[in-house]
Amino acid sequence: MIELQNVSKSFEGKNVLTCVNLSLKQGEVVTILGKSGSGKSTLLQLAAAMEPVDEGEILKDPQTMCAYITQKPLLFSHMTVLQNIAFPLKCQGVGKNERYEIAKVWLEKVELSGLENRFPYELSGGQQQRVSIARAFVYQPDVLLMDEPFANLDVKLSRQLQHLIFNEMKQRNVAGIFVTHNYEETKMYADQTFLLQEGKLTTMSEEEVELYFNEGIEKDGQLYSISNCLLSNSSSDTSIPVLFEKEVHLYGVNFFVVTLPNGQTQFMKKTKEINIKEPLHLILKEG
Ligand code: ADP
Ligand code: MG
Repeated sequence: MIELQNVSKSFEGKNVLTCVNLSLKQGEVVTILGKSGSGKSTLLQLAAAMEPVDEGEILKDPQTMCAYITQKPLLFSHMTVLQNIAFPLKCQGVGKNERYEIAKVWLEKVELSGLENRFPYELSGGQQQRVSIARAFVYQPDVLLMDEPFANLDVKLSRQLQHLIFNEMKQRNVAGIFVTHNYEETKMYADQTFLLQEGKLTTMSEEEVELYFNEGIEKDGQLYSISNCLLSNSSSDTSIPVLFEKEVHLYGVNFFVVTLPNGQTQFMKKTKEINIKEPLHLILKEG
Protein backbone atom coordinates (compact mmCIF):
# COMPACT_ATOMS: atom_id res chain seq x y z
CA MET A 1 0.00 0.00 0.00
CA ILE A 2 2.54 2.49 1.25
CA GLU A 3 6.14 2.05 2.26
CA LEU A 4 8.65 4.40 3.88
CA GLN A 5 12.21 3.36 3.08
CA ASN A 6 15.11 4.79 5.06
CA VAL A 7 13.36 8.11 5.37
CA SER A 8 15.24 10.94 7.07
CA LYS A 9 14.12 14.48 7.75
CA SER A 10 15.63 17.40 9.57
CA PHE A 11 14.47 20.95 10.27
CA GLU A 12 17.01 23.75 10.60
CA GLY A 13 19.86 21.26 10.94
CA LYS A 14 18.11 19.27 13.65
CA ASN A 15 17.41 15.61 12.86
CA VAL A 16 13.76 14.77 13.42
CA LEU A 17 13.56 11.40 11.64
CA THR A 18 16.54 9.13 10.98
CA CYS A 19 16.30 6.20 8.56
CA VAL A 20 12.67 5.43 9.29
CA ASN A 21 11.22 2.27 7.74
CA LEU A 22 7.53 1.46 7.75
CA SER A 23 5.48 -0.71 5.44
CA LEU A 24 1.70 -1.01 5.41
CA LYS A 25 -0.34 -3.73 3.76
CA GLN A 26 -3.94 -3.32 2.68
CA GLY A 27 -6.21 -3.12 5.73
CA GLU A 28 -3.33 -3.03 8.19
CA VAL A 29 -3.51 -0.53 11.04
CA VAL A 30 -0.46 0.61 12.98
CA THR A 31 -0.24 3.05 15.85
CA ILE A 32 2.66 5.34 16.56
CA LEU A 33 3.45 6.38 20.10
CA GLY A 34 6.00 8.94 21.12
CA LYS A 35 6.55 12.00 23.25
CA SER A 36 5.46 15.41 22.12
CA GLY A 37 8.03 16.75 19.66
CA SER A 38 9.34 13.30 18.71
CA GLY A 39 8.34 13.75 15.06
CA LYS A 40 5.03 11.90 14.80
CA SER A 41 3.24 14.64 12.89
CA THR A 42 6.28 15.10 10.66
CA LEU A 43 6.19 11.39 9.77
CA LEU A 44 2.52 11.65 8.73
CA GLN A 45 3.17 14.80 6.72
CA LEU A 46 5.92 13.02 4.80
CA ALA A 47 3.66 9.99 4.21
CA ALA A 48 0.94 12.36 2.96
CA ALA A 49 3.48 14.01 0.64
CA MET A 50 2.81 17.37 2.27
CA GLU A 51 6.50 17.70 3.13
CA PRO A 52 9.43 16.48 1.03
CA VAL A 53 11.79 13.87 2.49
CA ASP A 54 15.50 14.76 2.84
CA GLU A 55 16.66 11.22 2.24
CA GLY A 56 15.03 7.89 1.50
CA GLU A 57 11.87 7.16 -0.38
CA ILE A 58 8.15 6.86 0.03
CA LEU A 59 6.75 4.18 -2.24
CA LYS A 60 3.10 4.23 -3.16
CA ASP A 61 1.07 2.96 -6.09
CA PRO A 62 -0.19 5.88 -8.15
CA GLN A 63 -3.77 4.70 -7.64
CA THR A 64 -3.42 4.47 -3.85
CA MET A 65 -5.40 7.27 -2.26
CA CYS A 66 -4.31 8.69 1.07
CA ALA A 67 -6.50 10.80 3.31
CA TYR A 68 -5.03 12.74 6.20
CA ILE A 69 -6.83 13.78 9.35
CA THR A 70 -4.64 16.47 10.85
CA GLN A 71 -4.14 17.18 14.54
CA LYS A 72 -5.86 20.55 14.19
CA PRO A 73 -8.73 20.42 11.70
CA LEU A 74 -7.90 22.32 8.52
CA LEU A 75 -11.25 23.21 6.99
CA PHE A 76 -11.95 25.59 4.12
CA SER A 77 -13.17 28.67 5.96
CA HIS A 78 -15.27 29.99 3.06
CA MET A 79 -17.20 26.72 2.66
CA THR A 80 -20.11 25.43 4.71
CA VAL A 81 -19.91 22.17 6.61
CA LEU A 82 -21.64 20.29 3.79
CA GLN A 83 -19.44 21.88 1.11
CA ASN A 84 -16.35 20.98 3.11
CA ILE A 85 -17.39 17.34 3.42
CA ALA A 86 -18.37 17.12 -0.26
CA PHE A 87 -15.23 18.85 -1.52
CA PRO A 88 -13.13 15.71 -2.23
CA LEU A 89 -16.02 14.38 -4.32
CA LYS A 90 -16.17 17.64 -6.25
CA CYS A 91 -12.47 17.19 -7.04
CA GLN A 92 -13.27 13.68 -8.30
CA GLY A 93 -15.92 15.14 -10.63
CA VAL A 94 -18.98 13.79 -8.81
CA GLY A 95 -22.13 15.79 -9.69
CA LYS A 96 -23.58 18.26 -7.21
CA ASN A 97 -26.72 16.34 -6.14
CA GLU A 98 -24.89 13.07 -5.75
CA ARG A 99 -22.01 14.52 -3.77
CA TYR A 100 -24.33 16.31 -1.36
CA GLU A 101 -26.30 13.08 -0.86
CA ILE A 102 -23.11 11.22 0.05
CA ALA A 103 -21.91 14.10 2.23
CA LYS A 104 -25.21 14.06 4.13
CA VAL A 105 -24.77 10.39 4.98
CA TRP A 106 -21.44 11.25 6.56
CA LEU A 107 -22.86 14.33 8.23
CA GLU A 108 -25.25 12.02 10.04
CA LYS A 109 -22.60 9.45 10.91
CA VAL A 110 -20.48 12.05 12.68
CA GLU A 111 -23.63 13.44 14.36
CA LEU A 112 -23.60 16.88 12.82
CA SER A 113 -27.07 16.79 11.25
CA GLY A 114 -28.62 20.24 11.27
CA LEU A 115 -25.26 22.00 11.09
CA GLU A 116 -24.70 21.51 7.35
CA ASN A 117 -25.03 25.19 6.50
CA ARG A 118 -22.73 26.52 9.20
CA PHE A 119 -19.26 27.82 8.47
CA PRO A 120 -16.22 26.42 10.30
CA TYR A 121 -15.91 29.51 12.55
CA GLU A 122 -19.42 28.75 13.84
CA LEU A 123 -18.33 25.31 15.10
CA SER A 124 -16.53 24.12 18.23
CA GLY A 125 -13.10 22.48 17.86
CA GLY A 126 -14.64 19.04 18.32
CA GLN A 127 -17.30 19.71 15.67
CA GLN A 128 -14.62 20.90 13.25
CA GLN A 129 -12.68 17.71 13.87
CA ARG A 130 -15.77 15.66 13.04
CA VAL A 131 -16.15 17.54 9.76
CA SER A 132 -12.57 16.69 8.88
CA ILE A 133 -13.17 13.01 9.73
CA ALA A 134 -16.26 12.95 7.48
CA ARG A 135 -14.31 14.67 4.70
CA ALA A 136 -11.54 12.07 4.93
CA PHE A 137 -13.96 9.17 4.58
CA VAL A 138 -16.05 10.62 1.79
CA TYR A 139 -12.91 10.35 -0.29
CA GLN A 140 -12.91 6.52 0.07
CA PRO A 141 -9.21 6.38 0.84
CA ASP A 142 -7.04 3.24 0.76
CA VAL A 143 -4.80 4.66 3.45
CA LEU A 144 -5.91 6.85 6.31
CA LEU A 145 -3.30 8.93 8.13
CA MET A 146 -4.60 10.13 11.47
CA ASP A 147 -2.90 12.53 13.84
CA GLU A 148 -4.51 12.23 17.27
CA PRO A 149 -7.97 12.70 15.73
CA PHE A 150 -9.83 12.26 19.02
CA ALA A 151 -7.58 14.31 21.28
CA ASN A 152 -9.97 17.27 21.51
CA LEU A 153 -13.20 15.34 21.91
CA ASP A 154 -14.98 14.27 25.07
CA VAL A 155 -14.68 10.62 26.08
CA LYS A 156 -18.12 9.50 24.92
CA LEU A 157 -17.92 11.09 21.49
CA SER A 158 -14.35 9.96 21.05
CA ARG A 159 -15.43 6.33 21.72
CA GLN A 160 -18.31 6.63 19.25
CA LEU A 161 -16.02 8.01 16.54
CA GLN A 162 -13.36 5.39 17.24
CA HIS A 163 -15.93 2.67 16.60
CA LEU A 164 -17.19 4.43 13.50
CA ILE A 165 -13.74 4.97 12.02
CA PHE A 166 -12.36 1.52 12.75
CA ASN A 167 -15.51 -0.29 11.61
CA GLU A 168 -15.46 1.64 8.34
CA MET A 169 -11.77 0.87 7.94
CA LYS A 170 -12.34 -2.84 8.54
CA GLN A 171 -15.28 -3.04 6.17
CA ARG A 172 -13.42 -1.30 3.37
CA ASN A 173 -10.02 -2.78 4.15
CA VAL A 174 -8.49 0.65 4.64
CA ALA A 175 -4.92 0.75 5.98
CA GLY A 176 -4.04 3.29 8.63
CA ILE A 177 -1.22 5.03 10.41
CA PHE A 178 -2.62 6.29 13.62
CA VAL A 179 -0.82 8.64 16.01
CA THR A 180 -2.24 8.48 19.50
CA HIS A 181 -1.54 8.91 23.20
CA ASN A 182 -4.40 6.66 24.15
CA TYR A 183 -3.96 3.19 25.61
CA GLU A 184 -7.38 1.91 24.60
CA GLU A 185 -6.97 2.95 20.96
CA THR A 186 -3.56 1.31 20.85
CA LYS A 187 -4.72 -1.95 22.38
CA MET A 188 -7.99 -2.29 20.51
CA TYR A 189 -7.30 -1.21 16.98
CA ALA A 190 -3.65 -1.63 16.11
CA ASP A 191 -2.18 -4.68 14.38
CA GLN A 192 1.21 -3.32 15.35
CA THR A 193 2.51 -0.51 17.53
CA PHE A 194 5.65 1.56 16.99
CA LEU A 195 7.57 3.93 19.18
CA LEU A 196 9.13 7.06 17.73
CA GLN A 197 12.05 8.12 19.87
CA GLU A 198 15.14 10.16 19.03
CA GLY A 199 14.29 9.98 15.36
CA LYS A 200 14.08 6.19 15.26
CA LEU A 201 10.95 4.15 14.69
CA THR A 202 10.93 0.77 16.45
CA THR A 203 8.27 -1.91 16.88
CA MET A 204 6.90 -2.46 20.35
CA SER A 205 5.99 -5.80 21.90
CA GLU A 206 2.75 -6.07 23.86
CA GLU A 207 4.72 -5.89 27.10
CA GLU A 208 6.47 -2.74 25.92
CA VAL A 209 3.12 -1.14 25.13
CA GLU A 210 1.85 -2.02 28.61
CA LEU A 211 4.95 -0.55 30.13
CA TYR A 212 4.78 2.60 28.01
CA PHE A 213 1.40 3.41 29.49
CA ASN A 214 2.38 2.24 32.93
CA GLU A 215 5.39 3.65 34.70
CA GLY A 216 5.68 0.51 36.79
CA ILE A 217 5.85 0.12 40.53
CA GLU A 218 8.33 1.89 42.75
CA LYS A 219 9.76 0.40 45.90
CA ASP A 220 12.78 1.65 47.85
CA GLY A 221 13.76 3.95 45.00
CA GLN A 222 13.70 1.19 42.39
CA LEU A 223 11.24 0.97 39.49
CA TYR A 224 9.87 -2.48 38.66
CA SER A 225 8.16 -3.02 35.35
CA ILE A 226 4.62 -4.39 35.54
CA SER A 227 5.28 -7.14 33.02
CA ASN A 228 7.76 -8.71 35.45
CA CYS A 229 5.52 -8.49 38.51
CA LEU A 230 3.37 -11.35 39.71
CA LEU A 231 0.31 -11.64 41.94
CA SER A 232 0.61 -14.27 44.64
CA ASN A 233 -1.00 -15.40 47.88
CA SER A 234 2.39 -15.70 49.53
CA SER A 235 4.76 -12.85 50.31
CA SER A 236 8.48 -12.57 49.61
CA ASP A 237 11.40 -10.18 50.29
CA THR A 238 10.40 -8.10 47.33
CA SER A 239 6.62 -8.19 47.58
CA ILE A 240 4.10 -5.57 48.58
CA PRO A 241 0.64 -6.25 49.99
CA VAL A 242 -2.24 -5.34 47.66
CA LEU A 243 -6.02 -5.23 47.99
CA PHE A 244 -8.26 -7.04 45.53
CA GLU A 245 -10.86 -4.69 44.02
CA LYS A 246 -12.59 -6.53 41.18
CA GLU A 247 -12.18 -8.75 38.19
CA VAL A 248 -12.57 -7.32 34.67
CA HIS A 249 -12.51 -8.71 31.15
CA LEU A 250 -10.60 -6.49 28.71
CA TYR A 251 -9.28 -7.12 25.21
CA GLY A 252 -10.12 -10.81 25.59
CA VAL A 253 -8.11 -11.18 28.80
CA ASN A 254 -9.23 -11.50 32.42
CA PHE A 255 -7.61 -9.02 34.78
CA PHE A 256 -7.62 -8.53 38.51
CA VAL A 257 -7.81 -4.91 39.55
CA VAL A 258 -5.81 -4.40 42.74
CA THR A 259 -4.92 -1.38 44.86
CA LEU A 260 -1.33 -0.81 45.99
CA PRO A 261 -0.40 0.61 49.42
CA ASN A 262 0.20 4.03 47.79
CA GLY A 263 -3.35 4.04 46.40
CA GLN A 264 -2.28 3.24 42.83
CA THR A 265 -4.75 1.04 40.93
CA GLN A 266 -3.14 -1.75 38.98
CA PHE A 267 -4.45 -4.17 36.36
CA MET A 268 -2.83 -7.59 36.62
CA LYS A 269 -3.48 -10.59 34.39
CA LYS A 270 -5.53 -13.23 36.19
CA THR A 271 -3.76 -16.46 36.99
CA LYS A 272 -5.48 -19.60 38.15
CA GLU A 273 -3.56 -20.20 41.36
CA ILE A 274 -4.74 -17.01 43.05
CA ASN A 275 -7.34 -17.16 45.79
CA ILE A 276 -8.87 -13.71 46.19
CA LYS A 277 -10.28 -14.58 49.62
CA GLU A 278 -6.72 -14.90 50.98
CA PRO A 279 -4.31 -11.94 51.40
CA LEU A 280 -2.72 -10.91 48.11
CA HIS A 281 0.85 -9.82 47.42
CA LEU A 282 2.55 -8.40 44.39
CA ILE A 283 5.95 -10.02 43.88
CA LEU A 284 8.32 -7.50 42.31
CA LYS A 285 10.98 -8.83 39.99
CA GLU A 286 13.81 -6.96 38.34
CA GLY A 287 14.52 -7.27 34.67
P1 ADP B 1 5.11 15.50 17.34
O1 ADP B 1 3.99 15.45 16.38
O2 ADP B 1 5.66 14.15 17.70
O3 ADP B 1 4.75 16.26 18.59
P2 ADP B 1 6.40 17.12 15.31
O4 ADP B 1 6.54 16.20 14.17
O5 ADP B 1 5.30 18.11 15.25
O6 ADP B 1 6.33 16.28 16.68
O7 ADP B 1 7.76 17.92 15.50
C1 ADP B 1 9.01 17.28 15.64
C2 ADP B 1 10.11 18.31 15.73
O8 ADP B 1 10.28 18.98 14.49
C3 ADP B 1 9.83 19.42 16.74
O9 ADP B 1 11.03 19.75 17.37
C4 ADP B 1 9.32 20.56 15.90
O10 ADP B 1 9.60 21.80 16.50
C5 ADP B 1 10.10 20.38 14.61
N1 ADP B 1 9.34 20.85 13.42
C6 ADP B 1 8.22 20.30 12.94
N2 ADP B 1 7.79 20.94 11.82
C7 ADP B 1 8.68 21.94 11.61
C8 ADP B 1 8.81 22.96 10.61
N3 ADP B 1 7.95 23.07 9.59
N4 ADP B 1 9.86 23.80 10.71
C9 ADP B 1 10.77 23.69 11.72
N5 ADP B 1 10.71 22.76 12.68
C10 ADP B 1 9.68 21.89 12.64
MG1 MG C 1 2.01 16.12 16.54
